[in-house]
Amino acid sequence: MLPHLSAHFATDLPELALDWKAEVPPAPRLVAFNETLAEELGLDVETLRGPEGLGLLTGASPPEGARPVAQAYAGHQFGGYSPRLGDGRALLLGELRLPDGTLRDLHLKGSGRTPFSRGGDGFAALGPMLREHVISEAMHALGIPTTRSLGVVATGASVRRETPLPGAVMARVASSHLRVGTFQYVAASGDLALLRRLVDHAIARHHPQAAEADNPALALFESVVTVQADLVARWMLVGFIHGVMNTDNTTISGESIDYGPCAFMEAFDPRTVFSSIDHGGRYAYGNQAPVLEWNLARLAETLVPLLDEDEETAVALAVEALGAFRTRYAESWLGGMRAKLGLATDVPQELAHPLVDDLLPLLAASHVDFTSFFRNLADAARGDAEPVREVFLDLPGIDAWLERWRALGPDPAAMDAVNPVYVARNHRVEEALAAATAGDLEPFHRLVEVVRHPYVARPEWAWYAEPAPDDFTGYQTFCGT
Ligand code: AMP
Ligand code: MG
Repeated sequence: MLPHLSAHFATDLPELALDWKAEVPPAPRLVAFNETLAEELGLDVETLRGPEGLGLLTGASPPEGARPVAQAYAGHQFGGYSPRLGDGRALLLGELRLPDGTLRDLHLKGSGRTPFSRGGDGFAALGPMLREHVISEAMHALGIPTTRSLGVVATGASVRRETPLPGAVMARVASSHLRVGTFQYVAASGDLALLRRLVDHAIARHHPQAAEADNPALALFESVVTVQADLVARWMLVGFIHGVMNTDNTTISGESIDYGPCAFMEAFDPRTVFSSIDHGGRYAYGNQAPVLEWNLARLAETLVPLLDEDEETAVALAVEALGAFRTRYAESWLGGMRAKLGLATDVPQELAHPLVDDLLPLLAASHVDFTSFFRNLADAARGDAEPVREVFLDLPGIDAWLERWRALGPDPAAMDAVNPVYVARNHRVEEALAAATAGDLEPFHRLVEVVRHPYVARPEWAWYAEPAPDDFTGYQTFCGT
């Protein structure tokens, strides 16, 4: 049986929902299916794998009563405002209700042109959809809030990029697709009643406690500041670089979304950028927190008319709430770094904080692989410091640091529980996607299996833990549009 889909978004916010239909693919074939997620959602796995499932996962035949819509939103892209972005190659099929009563969006990416497509063809290539599938699974396994891929279907059509590529549709599950850009779109319309409805919808969906607050719009904003500060701190702790932190890619839910040119950093360097279009390094690893703060300021601006009748008071409230961002982010990041270093809660912050601050320049100066460093460090806590020491050029520097760290009694087992052995390393992702595009899905499926089990080292997977070879330099990622 196909699941029942509701249309809360389309009903609550018809001004943001354009009824639309997905393109019917000529020869659909399920190439990646997230059975674990299907089960978690209480979906019928056998049906989803069959012809009816293909109809759902591509949108060609949505379940009865479903009301697919293209969502309208605006957004700042690389700092420049676009008043009308919207789903140019995506559709919201509807919402699933989970046994716990919460809703999840079922959304398609690559489902054909919509009125928001502008110059685009509305399609997606197989490689980028599989990329989103594997990276979002990696993020989920790392405990990082994220949208997830329920499955990827090859359409049987080819899409025209620099060369013709196999086309695909991804079915994505998200706690919602409300973005900072959704609020920007509504604020720009000047329709205050609609803005109020959007706030109510977002509160009901994501931050229900805000409904009880004296100032619900302010409480919503504070909640988004908190969840997003925590989210980006989590990215930083695993070396994740989103690559395109436009305001339309910043969610209200606090989930990571829209994995385009994203990648995991190997050699630690705050200036790391992989995206081919990010010439100025706006979305570099080390800029992600300041960029998020900037995006949150854009969200605050949209809410000003609801914060207080007096504009000056409203702005003061927004500024104060945004002011909480830096503290929250710093706490979240430092708490995570303490855990990565295996420091017990009774280690005073006056010792932990400078220890963290002094580590980062050492990592940067020696181009140390960010992921494997922390696993090797756990071995150092067990008595074997050589794997850590051998990757540093500045030996006296790291030795002095190790001595200070050891004096705090780090717990290696606690470290191994939070520091991944396996992340989706760029060279492995590229190999898997190239093979998949050429028709061999085996490396892709293996990679998905590996990144879903990030914390326990397995000898047979050693290959996936290795940083890219030296000749894999100048790695670039593309938006894949
Ligand atoms: P993204 O980079 O996926 O976050 O997309 C940014 C904007 O460009 C959104 O409005 C997308 O719908 C739109 N877009 C991206 N790729 C395409 C495409 N192939 N066809 C039409 N619109 C697209
Ligand atoms: Mg986007």
